[in-house]
Amino acid sequence: MNHCPALPVPDVAGAGRYAPSPSGDLHLGNLRTALLAWVLARRGGRAFHLRVEDLDRVQEGAAERQLEDLAALGLDWDGEVVHQSERGAAHAAAIEALRARDLVYECYCTRREILEAPSAPHAPPGAYPGTCRNLSPTAREAGRARMQELRREPALRLRAEVDSWEVQDLWAGTVRGAVDDLVLRRGDGVVAYNLAVVVDDAAIGVDEVVRGDDLLSSAPRQAHLAHLLGLAEPAYAHVPLALNPAGMRLAKRDGAVTLRHRIARGESVAQVVARIGDSLGLPGCRTAAHLLNDFDPASMPRAPWIVDLPA
Ligand code: GLU
Repeated sequence: MNHCPALPVPDVAGAGRYAPSPSGDLHLGNLRTALLAWVLARRGGRAFHLRVEDLDRVQEGAAERQLEDLAALGLDWDGEVVHQSERGAAHAAAIEALRARDLVYECYCTRREILEAPSAPHAPPGAYPGTCRNLSPTAREAGRARMQELRREPALRLRAEVDSWEVQDLWAGTVRGAVDDLVLRRGDGVVAYNLAVVVDDAAIGVDEVVRGDDLLSSAPRQAHLAHLLGLAEPAYAHVPLALNPAGMRLAKRDGAVTLRHRIARGESVAQVVARIGDSLGLPGCRTAAHLLNDFDPASMPRAPWIVDLPA
């Protein structure tokens, strides 16, 4: 195993983070994003944190395995690993702060009703049509009664006052994207990812969010939420996804795609890091520390990484 040399404690404000959902082992695409998140934080001398996003989709033991794999790759992190499920009080306080400004409303729609509702004029595809935004008190009573029958709580939504917001992305540049009445707390009582991520990133001083580019379209919503909560809006660096040779998102079904699988096939950690280095146009990088030294964001390949492994 390769461990990078001890790094000085960052004395620069700001932090980066990697925030995996513990739904299974990390695949090569996840490991590449994690390495880049670490490299971008450390090259600026900033702190780097890990957060386990365990509000949902938890597989027993997956978080521990993910952390072991990241350490095996040579990543180090500052402070304790944050578990999102332990941040309930901060999430609730953020919802209360928005509610106090009348920026929250109850939504009684089922998923199906939302899908079937005609969308508002000019609304981006998939945006909430606003069905419950301006209900009368009587209609709200009826909605609550219906929720009781369904044994659900009403979801809580943001009463958005803009329909788009701008973010800065290291590779995508200035991105303006849709903001709608996003869910803050779901009907099953679980805090929504979009709220939790904003509150939790701010709490650890994250000033650059590095993650897969499937989340680029969520960034304007999240940055707007940060703005409404009076939190600093981070910059972003969305990393192109890893795809299989058929052009689909890399996944378990693609075979030996995790660090443990690669090792079981006889590869060393250094060879796995070298694969990732190759994908970044940095042949010959065999450790995280080497990538830290050599990586130049300006040379980042913008196309998805096609992962074509020997059978
Ligand atoms: N937990 C999310 C994932 O594993 C990432 C969220 C984020 O980085 O903002 O896809």
